[in-house]
Amino acid sequence: MAGDRQPLLGMPKLESVSDEKFAEIYTECQEYQVVKGSLLVRRGDLDAMSPIAGARPVGVSIIPTPFPDTHFSCALEMQEAFNELYIRVTEDDAWLESVINGLKKSDEFATKLWDIWERVRDEGEVQPLRCGVFRSDYMLHRPPANGPEDLVLQEDEDAYQSVHHSQLKQVEFNTYSCSGASHANVVANMHRHLARKRVYGIDEVQPSLLPLNHNIAFVAGALAAAHCAYGPPISRARQAAILMTVQPDNFNICDERPIEYELAEFDPPVVLYRVDFSDDILRKCTLGPNRELLLEPSAGQAVVEISVVYQRAGYQPHEYDPKGIEARLMLERSRAIKCPTILAHMAGFKKVQQELAKPNMLQRFLSPEKADLLQATFMPMYPLDDTPDGLRARQLALDEETAEGYVLKPSLDGGGNNVYGHDIPAFLKSAVPRNHWQKYVLMEKIRPPPVQGIVAFAYSAHRGPVISELGVLGTCLWRRDDRDGDPVILQNDTSGSTFKTKPYDVDEMNVVKGYGCFDCPLLVPRSTRSP
Ligand code: ADP
Ligand code: MG
Repeated sequence: MAGDRQPLLGMPKLESVSDEKFAEIYTECQEYQVVKGSLLVRRGDLDAMSPIAGARPVGVSIIPTPFPDTHFSCALEMQEAFNELYIRVTEDDAWLESVINGLKKSDEFATKLWDIWERVRDEGEVQPLRCGVFRSDYMLHRPPANGPEDLVLQEDEDAYQSVHHSQLKQVEFNTYSCSGASHANVVANMHRHLARKRVYGIDEVQPSLLPLNHNIAFVAGALAAAHCAYGPPISRARQAAILMTVQPDNFNICDERPIEYELAEFDPPVVLYRVDFSDDILRKCTLGPNRELLLEPSAGQAVVEISVVYQRAGYQPHEYDPKGIEARLMLERSRAIKCPTILAHMAGFKKVQQELAKPNMLQRFLSPEKADLLQATFMPMYPLDDTPDGLRARQLALDEETAEGYVLKPSLDGGGNNVYGHDIPAFLKSAVPRNHWQKYVLMEKIRPPPVQGIVAFAYSAHRGPVISELGVLGTCLWRRDDRDGDPVILQNDTSGSTFKTKPYDVDEMNVVKGYGCFDCPLLVPRSTRSP
């Protein structure tokens, strides 16, 4: 730190973390994670000694990473307006259809989902209630003064100014299978625990600057509220239960199971069954005469009636073979409350995000005040179609120099689908037929100011410039109006947050796939300085 400057509260000096100190904190983290189930778990063979083939702690930050407190609270305060926006988008089928139509010729996945919706719509829905567990993701944006290649980490004063003078920009809005809530909850608890014990040996890391995190209770609470709203089972003799769809080979039970276990602690307890998408759905579920969704959890066990379908699978194109389509159709046709519906699923497409980012588009759905608030978080986004905007975007995307400032995104979730900067021109020219370009959108890169951090992956650690991503969780319950009026919003809540951090030079972010780590924000107060 330069000569006579006061030390700044909030920007930890990581130079003081020696190798021995790192080893000590790392051990504390790993043991906490093992004991509290902050793990990635690989399933074993059914005939092996254990159904668990292996487990290891999920990647985490070793020291909580600074994030400006003002942006943290601002992101949380906006969540109800974002929930409202996506509720209204979901129920505006005509608008949504006009957007999805633009994808149909080029995007097989979007076409399959829309076809399922049309079959449900033509038959008529039997459940007007809908549940949402959403997550709005943000990064800080402040282009480095000397251009994008300027990776030099600023001194404390500059880093402090940089994070406070940055803007909060939305990466994407997730409506489907939002993950990370449980991991974020445990890792936030872990860092608060270690801060209270003063394990870090750094004055700036004070427990009061690490926000409380109750994600698991809030997400479970939202599902329980939907379960109650479903009402008693059609056949009173049956028990009502929640169904969680899961991917058969996923590593993420430690993110999914805590929600099941939390529901079991409610009074009265709410039972949640997991089913693999799509085999288990077809084997274990049927529709009753009133399209109630009936599940036989295992052979010979009493059949239960499903109140809520909580989707944690069914977001990847390969899941929609003929069996996947049949399974999704059954769930959507059923009387169960969907979390979310197939329309809300499609509302989370990047193509929808790009349409919403157009000037004045938000005012179709929100009051001018709310629209202005949310609009300020949008980065410029462009279609890649043959409209004038699309043709301009194609030029930007095909030019090596301009492409550097953009990310190319298909309407897919789950990480690993985007193309970044310099790679865009070659990708478009060689990997995608021209008539399929319009399934992508082009988004201007968010340029976060680098801050110092230490993160640990499975087999390595990174110390140096890092970027964090804040996810704000929103939960809601609403009723579609049969007379095509406005949806009736019954519950609309901000339900917690996730925080992930990655080395500065990594483009992607997906902790399960090893691109980043779970973290807890160290809220940097705007003007507080230590004496
Ligand atoms: P996915 O649905 O696959 O999660 P995202 O839009 O969230 O797709 O992109 C994945 C990751 O890529 C983000 O978490 C973020 O780290 C990075 N990313 C996405 N958009 C941008 C952007 N405009 N600028 C910088 N990084 C981005
Ligand atoms: Mg994402």
